[in-house]
Amino acid sequence: MDLWSDPNFPRCIQERLTNFCTDISTIFTYVSASFQKKVQNKIKDLLQQMEEGLKTADPHDFSTYTGWTGIALLYLQLHRVSQEATDLQRALDYVKRTMRILNGRKVTFLCGDAGPLAVGAVVHHKLNNTADSQDCLSRLLQLQRSVLSPDSEMPDELLYGRAGYLYALLYVNKEMGADTVDESTITKVVMAIVESGKNMSAEQNKADRCPLLYEWHKKQYIGAAHGLAGIFYMLMQPGAKVHPEVLSELIRPSIDYVRHKKFRSGNFPSSLSNESDRLVHWCHGAPGVVHMLIMAYKVFNEEKYLKDAADCAEVIWQRGLLRKGYGICHGTAGNGYAFLSLYKLTQEKKHLYRYCKFAEWCLAYGTHGCRIPDQPYSLFEGMAGAIYYLSEVSNPEASCFPAFEL
Ligand SMILES: [Zn+2]
Repeated sequence: MDLWSDPNFPRCIQERLTNFCTDISTIFTYVSASFQKKVQNKIKDLLQQMEEGLKTADPHDFSTYTGWTGIALLYLQLHRVSQEATDLQRALDYVKRTMRILNGRKVTFLCGDAGPLAVGAVVHHKLNNTADSQDCLSRLLQLQRSVLSPDSEMPDELLYGRAGYLYALLYVNKEMGADTVDESTITKVVMAIVESGKNMSAEQNKADRCPLLYEWHKKQYIGAAHGLAGIFYMLMQPGAKVHPEVLSELIRPSIDYVRHKKFRSGNFPSSLSNESDRLVHWCHGAPGVVHMLIMAYKVFNEEKYLKDAADCAEVIWQRGLLRKGYGICHGTAGNGYAFLSLYKLTQEKKHLYRYCKFAEWCLAYGTHGCRIPDQPYSLFEGMAGAIYYLSEVSNPEASCFPAFEL
């Protein structure tokens, strides 16, 4: 019998020992102060480089993915971490820049008008600019017309489709209060996505195996950016309030269909018809699919999803440091978010350690001979994404994959 359960051992000493052990484990769960300091210094250095580099960036790119809204989102994150008013002010500066150049062509958070409008609504809300915030919000809601139109050619994936609009609505509700966008609007968008998936599944005679199926550019992608994983991830969000029957009868079997495409390595193909185990990116492969699996575990409470998510983490640990750079979409930072999500779910220190090792790689930004992305300072392709990832070090429990996790 151990000391903790021995009834003859003095209770007060048992309690003190228990408290001591809890304290010790708390200390070791946190990232060391010296590593945090190193990261904070690097963030300052990279921010300066980013601001300098942005002087030559495309002035018309307002997007979250490669443009000004992504930078606004980075400063919102830095404000969340530091509570510095100057960070919020910088976010506002970038939001204002986007408002003049919106073009009404796309509707998603990452690549369309919904990103700047949603981020604008949140930044103005935080600054108590009620009228400006409401203006952004009503313009955001006007976009639903094209999203809901059944004859529109709109895809359903995250970057250009309906799921990317749904994210914008859920983001606003998370940041500004649960009923900022009313439930009936969200339900309409959700149902448009579900109907579209049912139609595609029926067209392909897959209703019994994969009742919800989606294509982008004639291909049935699996990954988070263009494929099923990103769409199912959004539909499973508690804020999407999807009917339990839709979850169990349509979404769950479709997720299981995707699960059966898993490679022996633990990775996932980029599309249903692709057999090569090559890409380990958030956009294509395990680093995106892992988030769907974690969400499926939370919603359906079945171990198999957690097991698959853990397998994703292993393949990301083995192959996740990328030559394509340090960014979010197909870079090391985006891959590292898998460890943060698994750490939040399981509290296993292994995942926190792996997050830190990928962060360490980002600390040596630019020294590995990686390819320079087209938009080298942007959130999803470049430096802003690496800074965002590094900034999670001060509170990994509160980490949140930008423009994706809620
Ligand atoms: Zn990508």
